[in-house]
Amino acid sequence: MKAVVFHEFGGLDVLKLEEVDDPQAGPGEVVLDVAASALNHLDVDIREGISRFPIEPPHILGVEVVGRVSETGSDVKGWQPGDRAMVFLMDVCKDCRYCRTGRESLCVEPGFVGFSTSGGYAQKIAVAAGHLVRLPDDVPDEEAAALQIAFATAWHMLFTRGRLRAGETVLINSVGSGVGSAAVQLARIGGATIIGTASTDEKLEQAAELGMHHGINHREQDVVAEVMRLTDDQGVDLAYEHVGGDHFQSALDSLCKDGRLVTCGAHAGEVVPFDIIPFFRGQKSIIGSFVYNRDELERCIKLAQSGDVKPLVHKVFPLEEAREAMAMMERREHFGKIVLKP
Ligand SMILES: [Zn+2]
Repeated sequence: MKAVVFHEFGGLDVLKLEEVDDPQAGPGEVVLDVAASALNHLDVDIREGISRFPIEPPHILGVEVVGRVSETGSDVKGWQPGDRAMVFLMDVCKDCRYCRTGRESLCVEPGFVGFSTSGGYAQKIAVAAGHLVRLPDDVPDEEAAALQIAFATAWHMLFTRGRLRAGETVLINSVGSGVGSAAVQLARIGGATIIGTASTDEKLEQAAELGMHHGINHREQDVVAEVMRLTDDQGVDLAYEHVGGDHFQSALDSLCKDGRLVTCGAHAGEVVPFDIIPFFRGQKSIIGSFVYNRDELERCIKLAQSGDVKPLVHKVFPLEEAREAMAMMERREHFGKIVLKP
């Protein structure tokens, strides 16, 4: 099969399109013919060797994969060749204290597609059957590939970790990104008033079409001052943060008293100082969020099926153009996901 492989950590030029052996389905595994594979900023960190996950080259990137089962190994039940499936990011043990209490995103022995297996920048992928989620026929391949991490992460952050309720006001940072634009769509369904930030007016206009009520251009406007103006100096109930650096501090300063900040990322700065005094006097909370549960993903697939949310696909590239696709993502000019089709 064809696959995009890197043999050393580095920039775009380490990506090579190669002919490699077809993966085989071991016990409990299936092989999927990949139909679509979405790009993630995490892929850049993995390629550069700064992801803080234990990955050694040679490696095939790609954690958001959709395809059709082409082969099933021994001990696989419920899946047949031809079945359409999404690869759930995690394969959890189902047995640790977190799995047993409905918190599988905290599983102590998770397997991750694209980390503990090879990834989706390829024509085929072998994964444990425990990774598979059934995909309804009326969600197209590209949209399904674009859905998982953006929407399920946003669901876990907004509703499970952030406890967003109807009538609350939420600040969503970087609404042009995958997790940002998904959060706008889900917070709209959840009945929240949505204030969003972005680096360009164009991205703010696109987010407004998805249901964002107020936009702030963080390059030209003071985010905290604008939030306070829009909320009668109260601040927001929930800040949805995934950017890090200065964006983390401005989100924290935008909270009302007893407000919550939920965070899942830090590309713009992983270590930040923050002012402890107003934080505890205002009885604010900072909440960490990591991945999502299968149930949350399945709810998001249902919302895409019913048309209540629309996974955004910015551009589809053939596998051969993986470098161009990653370059586009790294320029951060896109609105929605970039998807590879083998
Ligand atoms: Zn577990």
